[in-house]
Amino acid sequence: SNNSGSRRDEHSRQAFDEAKKYIPGGVNSPVRAFKSVGLTPIYIERGEGPRVFDIDGNSFIDYVGSWGPLIMGHAHPEVVKNVQEAAAKGTSFGAPTLLETKMAKLVTERVPSIDIVRMVSSGTEATMSAIRLARGYTGRNKIMKFEGSYHGHADSLLIKAGSGVATLGLPDSPGVPEGVAANTIAVPYNDLESVKLAFEKFGEEIAAIIVEPVAGNMGVVPPLPGFLEGLREITNQYGSLLIFDEVMTGFRVHLNCAQGRFGVTPDLTCLGKVIGGGLPVGAYGGRKEIMEQIAPSGPIYQAGTLSGNPLAMTAGFTTLSLLTPEVYERLEVLSARLEAGLEANAKEKGIALSINRVGSMVCPFFTDEKVVNYATAKTSDLNMFNKYFAAMVDEGISVPPSQFEGMFVSGVHTEEDIDATIEANRLALQKL
Ligand code: PMP
Repeated sequence: SNNSGSRRDEHSRQAFDEAKKYIPGGVNSPVRAFKSVGLTPIYIERGEGPRVFDIDGNSFIDYVGSWGPLIMGHAHPEVVKNVQEAAAKGTSFGAPTLLETKMAKLVTERVPSIDIVRMVSSGTEATMSAIRLARGYTGRNKIMKFEGSYHGHADSLLIKAGSGVATLGLPDSPGVPEGVAANTIAVPYNDLESVKLAFEKFGEEIAAIIVEPVAGNMGVVPPLPGFLEGLREITNQYGSLLIFDEVMTGFRVHLNCAQGRFGVTPDLTCLGKVIGGGLPVGAYGGRKEIMEQIAPSGPIYQAGTLSGNPLAMTAGFTTLSLLTPEVYERLEVLSARLEAGLEANAKEKGIALSINRVGSMVCPFFTDEKVVNYATAKTSDLNMFNKYFAAMVDEGISVPPSQFEGMFVSGVHTEEDIDATIEANRLALQKL
C-alpha cells in the first residue's frame, strides 16, 4: 500500500477552505467535493501513468482517470508531446484546420453508426445537440431516458438522473421548467416492458430514446441480453431515433465502442471523455441524412467557439491512435484480475458484494442483489460504501467517491498495480 494506512490531508483541507470562498461548494463539478462521503477532497498536484500525487505528498493508484477520459493514463508522453507541439502553433483559430478532418475521418472509421460527425467541447453539449437534432429531424417533442442514467446537465436530460445527481440525492433539479420536464419520459433501465408500455401510449410523439449502452452513472450496469436489440426494434417500429450516449463507453469498452461490442447500431451516437484524451471534447454523429440537418447544411442550429479546437483534437487523435486491439485485450485481462481479487476479498471477509464489470468499467456494489437498474443499485449499503471509500483512500487507492460511479482501469496499469490494489482493498475491507 502506498500510504501505509494514513492519508495526510493538511494542505488539501486548507486548499478546500480557500476554494469555498470563491467557487460554489469549492469545486467546479459537484462530485469532486467528496460531500456524500464526508471527506476533504484530494487536491491533485500531478498525474503520471496510473498514479496521481496530491499536494500533501500522498500518492494513489488511480481508478478515476478524470472520470473516464484517461484510458492511457495521466500525462501520456505522446499526448503531452503532441499537445505541446500543437500549442506552439496556436491554441485556437475558430477556422477550419486539417486536423479536424483527420479526426472526423478516424471517428467515422471506428464507430459503426457514424457517417459524419460534429465536434463539440463536452459530453453535455453532445447529448443536448443530439436531442435537438432528433427533435428537429422527427418533428416530435418527447424523449425517453432511463432512471439513474446521466446524460449531462441539459434541462430535458436532468430528469431522474444518475451520477452526481444520484450521489447528492437530487432527482429533479430546480430551474428545469415543468414544460421541459413534461417532455421527458423516464423508465427503468433494462426494462423493455416499461419501454413498450410508454410507446403504446406516446410512441407517435417520441423523437428519440437516449440510452447509455452500458449504464455508467448508477454504478456500472450492463445491458441485459436483448435490451439494446429491443430498443432498436421499438424505435424502428415507431419512427423514433435511437441515440446511444457513448460519452463514457465510447472507445472505453471496445475499439468500436459499445455498439461494436454489442452489435447494435443506433441512429445517433454521442461521444466524450476518451475521444478528447483529457482535453475538453465531445462529439455527436450518425447517418448522413440525419446529420446534414445541422447548420450550415441544414436548418437545425448548433455551434461552438472552441469546437474542433486544435489542442483538443491533438490530444484526442493521439489517444485514439494509441488504442489498438491489443490495448483492449489487456484492459480485459487486467480488469478481470481486479474483479476477481475484489470478489475474493469480500468473500473472505463475509461482506455482501455484487460486482458489475464491462471491460475496464468495474463497480463493486455493497449488496447481495444482482444490480440491473437504478432501484437495485440503490440496495447497496451506502454507509458501508462510504467507509470503504475512506479506507481505500487511506491505503493509497483513488476510486470514485460515489457508489453511483464506476472505476476505470487504464492501459498503463500493470499487473503489479492491480495486485497492490487488491492487497490494499483486503486491508481496507478489514477496517469496515
Ligand atoms: N453522458 C454520459 C454517459 C456521461 O457519463 C457524462 C459525464 N459523466 C456526460 C454525458 C456528460 O459529459 P460532460 O461531463 O463532459 O458534460
